[in-house]
Amino acid sequence: MKIDLDDIATHDASEDCVACRAQDLVSFMLVPAVAAWEHANQLPQHALSLHGAAGLIGFMMQEGARREDIERAVGKLVDEMELQIAEEQAFGGPTQGTA
Ligand SMILES: [Zn+2]
Repeated sequence: MKIDLDDIATHDASEDCVACRAQDLVSFMLVPAVAAWEHANQLPQHALSLHGAAGLIGFMMQEGARREDIERAVGKLVDEMELQIAEEQAFGGPTQGTA
């Protein structure tokens, strides 16, 4: 099955935008679970995040996704996140790592 990474990485204006739905699941379900798993398994902070992300990318490659396509899509998403973080910090929103 051919999956268009640009298609699933790009927001559309719909109510059930794939990018928004996936990002919400990551924020509300995955991020807290990963932090809890790292703590429960005495792994350094972000160890599971990093290896989990790489492992999921490896799985996509096994399924036939091309590394170049993945890198382009991930780069675009990380650019978006950087902007979002900068905006949140500018508006006094949530900051992490200040405790
Ligand atoms: Zn969206």
